[in-house]
Amino acid sequence: MDRIDFRSDTVSWPTPAMRLAMAEARVGDDVYGEDPTTNEMEALAAEMLGKEAALFVASGTMGNLTAILTHCRRGDEAIVGLDSHTFRYEAGGMASLGGVMPYPLPTDGLGRMALADVAAAVRVDDPHYPRSRLILLENSYGAKHGAPIPAGYFAAVRELADRYGLRVHLDGARYFNAVVALGISPKEIAGYVDSVSFCLSKGLCAPAGSILVGSAEFIHQARRVRKVLGGGMRQTGVLAAAGMVALTQMVDRLAEDHARARRLAWGLAEIPGLVLDPVLVQTNMVFFELAEAVTLPAGEIVQRLRTLANVWVDTAGPRRFRVVTHFWIDDNAVALFLETLHAILRNG
Ligand SMILES: *Cc1c(COP(=O)(O)O)cnc(C)c1O
Repeated sequence: MDRIDFRSDTVSWPTPAMRLAMAEARVGDDVYGEDPTTNEMEALAAEMLGKEAALFVASGTMGNLTAILTHCRRGDEAIVGLDSHTFRYEAGGMASLGGVMPYPLPTDGLGRMALADVAAAVRVDDPHYPRSRLILLENSYGAKHGAPIPAGYFAAVRELADRYGLRVHLDGARYFNAVVALGISPKEIAGYVDSVSFCLSKGLCAPAGSILVGSAEFIHQARRVRKVLGGGMRQTGVLAAAGMVALTQMVDRLAEDHARARRLAWGLAEIPGLVLDPVLVQTNMVFFELAEAVTLPAGEIVQRLRTLANVWVDTAGPRRFRVVTHFWIDDNAVALFLETLHAILRNG
């Protein structure tokens, strides 16, 4: 890459193996169901997560929206974390396009809604109320330092959902980060939910795309919803070829990103003027804050990192930063970042 970019794993370029695979991809018209590479990728994704079928979509946002519109009718309600990506950062799509009402609930330190809160949010059948239909979960949980939520929580939510006749969708934008960090099979958590969407374009490095998985009947319905949303694309094999590399070569190596994020966090913890708890770092995200004594504004620090070392980081608040590791961040990049940030804070 042409810069050292810690702002997100979305900035990761396709790998050299992906570029080659894309150039040589076998293609067809995917709206006709005739793109062989997309079909192969969807079959592999379904198999990896232990589901019957899968659907390639343009983005994580489209994957979640497609799932919500497939699970819900207009006037249905979806119980969702107050700080979840779907509630906060997907432009209100469930409401504006689906007529689905979100019922947001607070989450704990790992991004879990309390089961008692979820149960209390479920509506009784009464004409005053919307119809409770869906529980929306997220893993890893972006707003809680990328925490990987263990499988037990999903088992408990499944039980609750079954008790009340609700569906469960998992926004697994970074699903493989979560399962690699937890050291479990991707089938385990997926087995407790009706549908999962995950991004190919984040830590897995593909240039674009997400995959939605679920039952054959669910994916059959979702295919029509995707078309409604303008997501029926043609020779998607060019993208799916990168997706195949993502699924076959890029999953296990996420552990390297996690180890590097942990080392980065412990390095930050040694720099005077920074506040963080490195123990919280379990996947590829590190959040840290400026100590009270630091007078330099966060925006100024961001600018100086760019000017001095071509290191790009993001702020996550007036005195807070987020950095994310990925395939294109190596040990040298981490060392340069730590060194430069240390110097900036020392010089004030
Ligand atoms: C990135 C992300 C999405 C959306 O993905 P896009 O491809 O950017 O639309 C959804 N959920 C979470 C948790 C994400 O991090």
